[in-house]
This record gives sequence, C-alpha cells and structure tokens, in this order.
Amino acid sequence: MRLETRAVHAGQRIDPATGAVAAPIHPSTTFERDADGSYPRGYLYARNNNPNRDALERCLAELEGGAAAAGFATGMAATAAIFQSLAPGDHVVVPHDAYHGTARLLREHLVPWGLQVTFVDMTDLVQLRRVVQPRTRLIWVETPSNPMLRITDIAAVADVAGGARALLACDNTWATPVLQRPLELGADLVMHSTTKYLGGHGDIMGGAVVAKHAAGFFERVRKVQVDGGAIPAPFDCWLLLRSIRSLPYRVRAHAENALKVATFLEGHPRVESVHYPGLAKHPGHDVATRQMVAFGGVAAVQVRGGREAALALAARVKLFTRATSLGSVESLIEHRASVEGPESRTPENLLRLSIGLEHPDDLIADLSQALG
Ligand code: PLP
Repeated sequence: MRLETRAVHAGQRIDPATGAVAAPIHPSTTFERDADGSYPRGYLYARNNNPNRDALERCLAELEGGAAAAGFATGMAATAAIFQSLAPGDHVVVPHDAYHGTARLLREHLVPWGLQVTFVDMTDLVQLRRVVQPRTRLIWVETPSNPMLRITDIAAVADVAGGARALLACDNTWATPVLQRPLELGADLVMHSTTKYLGGHGDIMGGAVVAKHAAGFFERVRKVQVDGGAIPAPFDCWLLLRSIRSLPYRVRAHAENALKVATFLEGHPRVESVHYPGLAKHPGHDVATRQMVAFGGVAAVQVRGGREAALALAARVKLFTRATSLGSVESLIEHRASVEGPESRTPENLLRLSIGLEHPDDLIADLSQALG
C-alpha cells in the first residue's frame, strides 16, 4: 500500500472492547496478571509497554519500512538510546554539522562515558573513508543538515559503513519518511525527533528509533528504552499517531511552500544566499533529487548586512513567529547562531525559516515587507 494509506491505517484498529473507531487512551501504569502469574494480554507495566505506544511504534516501523520501532520522550532521548546501545571504547563517526544537541550530547556525556567520536564533513567520502577504523561501530548522518541544509548521499555512506561492518544511523527528522526513506537506501537505523513534522502542530515532544532488523542492535535500543525509561506518555503517543494520519499531505504542502519562499528569497537584492536543496544552484541538489521525493519545509537565508541585518529582518516579520523548532503548521524564523551558542559555526547573518502551512503568497508578502 502507498504511504498515504499506510499513514491513515498503520497502528490503527477498531477497539475490541467498545467498537470505538478512534483508539482509546490507556493511562494505566500497570496491568492485571492472571492467577497463574502470566500476562495473557501482553502488558505488564507501562514503562515496558503500553497499547498506545505499541500502536505508534507499529505505525512508525511501517512508514519507514522497518521491522521494529521504539518510541521515546524526545528526539534527544532516541539519539541517546542509539549511542548508549554501543559499548565504551566503540568509535563513531558523526557529521560536523549534526544538530547541535546531538554534538553536545556526544561531547559532554558520551565521550566522558567512553565513546570515541570523530566529527567529519559527511559530504566528503574521501575524508569519511580516511577516519573509519576497525573500532568504528556506527556512522551517523543527518540530511538535510541543520541549519545549512547540506545533503549527504545516504547510499554512498551506506557503502562505506557496509565495508567497515559499521551500522549506519540516519536522523530523518527534517525529511520524514514521506520525502526520504533511509532504510531503503542502506541505513540500519532511523532516528526521529517526532516533535517536528510527525507531531506537526508544535504541541508534542517525542522521539523514535526505527530499525531495519528487530534482532541484534535494536534489542539493545529496546533495553535502553525500557531500563532507562525515557518513554513517551500514552496521551502523547495517541496524539502523535493522530497527527501522522495527515503527515503525507502536510509534508508535501510544507515542501511546496518552502520551494516558493526559497525561490523568492533567491531573487531578492538584500539576500546574500539561500540554502534550500530544491534550488538548482544548491550543491546537494542532484543528490537530493535522487534520494528525496521533495526538498522539505526548512530553508535558511543569509542576508546582506551581517548579524544586525538578520536580527532586524527577524524583528520586522509579522506572520512568522520568532521561535526555535520546525515542522509545525505555523511558520517560524530563527537567528540560529544565537541559539546554538559559542560553539556555533553558523554564519551570524543566517536566519533559519521553518515554512508552515499558511498560503505561500502571504509568507512571501511578509518577508518582502520585512526585507524592505
Ligand atoms: N535532530 C534534529 C535534526 C533536530 O532538529 C532536533 C531538534 O530540533 C533533534 C534531533 C532533537 O529533538 P528533540 O528536541 O525532540 O529532543
């Protein structure tokens, strides 16, 4: 079945107790045992599993074409679970422009714990091959990247990972399974911040790991989920599953709007450069065309006049909200360097735009008046 159909039906079923078409929410923290001590309904304690989380995990696995999925309380908890499933002394290779929270988690928590990390330009396969070593257990990719929208060739990195007998994990938050399916391109694991497009309305925090194979490494991820306990609440799982039903249509509209906004910005005299993989001039355009269905809902713009001009533009917009995050129905604008802090490599004149589901002409009119 096609993705739109799967998004509506995966993880859904008529409630056997009542016939309810919309699934009930199960807040119970514990579940009854039979007199013989068994759990015939499959549920024991809500940290281990819960019907709403099960339904969400079945849906996410189906959308990504994976064998199994694990839901988490945030995207960062999902990322942490992947790295915590490795062993101290293992080596991982991570893009130097990975989401700044991912880089910070590695530097401040996982390196002291014993993980060895090399940051590289993941678009440079020669450099990648040079840093891979016998202890390399995992290569991490994030594409499009944050906030420069750089594109990594997932299939090419999968070849390098396969040659090194390392796992390939892909942060697919920005593309979503609607636009890019890393498992089909050779990745072993997909990570999501479901806080973004999967939730889609800026009101649920969540994360997920989807695995190509349910056995092996994913069993460790499941152990970290259950033993570490960074699980999503039943209501959040329910709400997320509800949002995912419209995901394919929302994501397509985000991408169409973003292409129109990026095209407008590219032609504006006050704009120095636009980073959006849907633009023919973007250095990753060819790879993006090959591995994505469309180019996503995030664009970044560098304005002429440096930091002051960027902050002034962000101050003048009326329809865009000045806030971090992305993937929600409303458009957001953000001066990224100031959010990322002193370690940021992001240019000071860069604003990241999360293009929402407003009419694109209204968004363009707002940016046009703000640019002056
Ligand atoms: N990965 C990417 C690409 C993100 O953009 C974010 C959040 O912005 C995360 C991971 C972290 O997700 P969360 O904020 O849900 O923990």
